[in-house]
Amino acid sequence: MSRTLYDIIEFNKAIDTWFGVGGGADRYARPADREELADCLVAYAGHTVRVLGDGANLLVDDDGVDGLVVDLADLDSAEYSPGESPDEVILHAQAGANLPRLIVESVREGYSGLESLAGIPASIGGAVIMNAGGAFGSISELVTRVHAMSSTGAELVIPAEQISFDYRHSGLEHLVITSVELRLRRVAEKTRPALRDRLKEVMAYKKKTQPMADRSAGCCFKNPLAVGRGLPGSGTRVSAGKLIDEAGCKGLRIGGAEVSGVHANFIVTHDGCRAHDIIELMDEVERRVHAFCGVHLEREVKVWQRTEP
Ligand SMILES: Cc1cc2nc3c(=O)[nH]c(=O)nc-3n(C[C@H](O)[C@H](O)[C@H](O)COP(=O)(O)OP(=O)(O)OC[C@H]3O[C@@H](n4cnc5c(N)ncnc54)[C@H](O)[C@@H]3O)c2cc1C
Repeated sequence: MSRTLYDIIEFNKAIDTWFGVGGGADRYARPADREELADCLVAYAGHTVRVLGDGANLLVDDDGVDGLVVDLADLDSAEYSPGESPDEVILHAQAGANLPRLIVESVREGYSGLESLAGIPASIGGAVIMNAGGAFGSISELVTRVHAMSSTGAELVIPAEQISFDYRHSGLEHLVITSVELRLRRVAEKTRPALRDRLKEVMAYKKKTQPMADRSAGCCFKNPLAVGRGLPGSGTRVSAGKLIDEAGCKGLRIGGAEVSGVHANFIVTHDGCRAHDIIELMDEVERRVHAFCGVHLEREVKVWQRTEP
């Protein structure tokens, strides 16, 4: 039996994020399928609707958020189909499908591509919206098509060529991604051990260079373009973590929030941390880095705050 909006929408619901801090959603929906998602979007057209993926790049303010939060966790199916050539396979994943799970499953099946994203916590929709990636590549390199819904519930199919992917940017933020098609490569039986080793290598690199065991939202700031005072050239990006470290912020602490000693672009949380501690710490890091080298850091982490008091 299909659910009505009265069944779908919950009130004052906690929002689960990797930071593990912050308030809840005044109104929250976890649609079971695309039809329920469209019902929610139509009902809240003209209001603030926020999409929740895995909450790995998200900071929710202590007061929580108004409008509607739509959690796509139940849109989580994934299947493979043959690609255009014999060594290609297309992964069709709904937006809520868990990226780390798909990485392990695809490598187990002998499909290469996703292993370069090992160690990135995300839903597939969140990974594509953010164009998640790192030292070994970005998800945009695999995307062939994105299926999305507009704020009024209209469905769209967007080929990769029409998406303006850039560093941690997709240009799709005005849409709700409902599913994604990714092109993977079928690996010969004899090279499967090498694929599994690659996955382990990428994972080991992440564990060595980032505070993976602490609560965080990954990198808080984008790596800036090298145009600031004292920075060479332009067009290339410099490590925000290096600038934060050089500006003397490693170990800086406000309340329960601390600039990680392992990777200065990560803010990690301790017991009793509040969202406000993290916001204040990000402000302070921005001030210090600007004073140190003239660079205005841009936030990578998304901060959800009330639009009305
Ligand atoms: C320990 C740790 C390590 C990390 N390492 C990396 C890394 O190496 N590289 C990297 O790029 N990131 C990294 N991150 C950040 C995070 O993993 C990525 O940004 C990821 O893409 C977030 O996906 P999500 O599903 O959790 O999105 P969320 O955090 O839930 O949401 C992030 C933004 O995307 C929007 N969104 C989510 N899903 C959809 C959708 N279906 N449609 C429309 N909008 C949507 C949200 O509204 C929000 O604005 C790390 C985070 C942690 C905690």
